[in-house]
Amino acid sequence: MTGSALSPVHPDERHRCDGATLKFFYGPMDCGKSTLALQMDYNHARQGRRGLVLTRNDRSMGPAVTTRIGLSHKAIEVTDDLNLIDLVLSQPERVDYLICDEVCFYTVAQVEQMADLVDQHHVDVFAFGLATDFRTELFPASRRLFELADQVTRLQVEVLCWCGREGHLNARVVNGVIAREGEQVVIGDTDTGSATEIRYQVLCRRHHRLGELGPSPEPAAP
Ligand SMILES: [Zn+2]
Repeated sequence: MTGSALSPVHPDERHRCDGATLKFFYGPMDCGKSTLALQMDYNHARQGRRGLVLTRNDRSMGPAVTTRIGLSHKAIEVTDDLNLIDLVLSQPERVDYLICDEVCFYTVAQVEQMADLVDQHHVDVFAFGLATDFRTELFPASRRLFELADQVTRLQVEVLCWCGREGHLNARVVNGVIAREGEQVVIGDTDTGSATEIRYQVLCRRHHRLGELGPSPEPAAP
């Protein structure tokens, strides 16, 4: 340890002093990420804090955060060219926090902007998303969050593989078969009129690797 009373304040401690943090909550589909995101917004708004709710590719495919259990909140749809710092600074009132849902689909540059919002503008950022894609490889934005976030929390709200083990991995299922290659982001469960049926299913590592979808795969969510 080289610290002493004469040492300048370590950047991490200076950061803690001003209180703002970058937190990343991740987990598989259906583990309650969006529900927690809206709960977080509610808790902070109740304290009189002002926040913005952002999302990208929400299951509703609209500018809203919607949850499997039926909650909904309007949200700003994130696009590749949206600068989060400009967004925050252009608001008529001070922004105290950001709720960033589906953050796995954001750009790496936007994750960098989150860190700058925390460090330079004292805005809390709460990010929620998948860690890995259907191949079990990290999304670029999620990787950057693992590298930069002050706190990383794995959510596990009893999402089980068909075999009963905890499900940590998302499988992309194309016409009933687990996919091993393809575009990183393909939205499933939408009616595209295509002959190709794409859905996602949570599996344990063993069954993701074996490609075994179980005796009766769950039907697509309504
Ligand atoms: Zn399993």
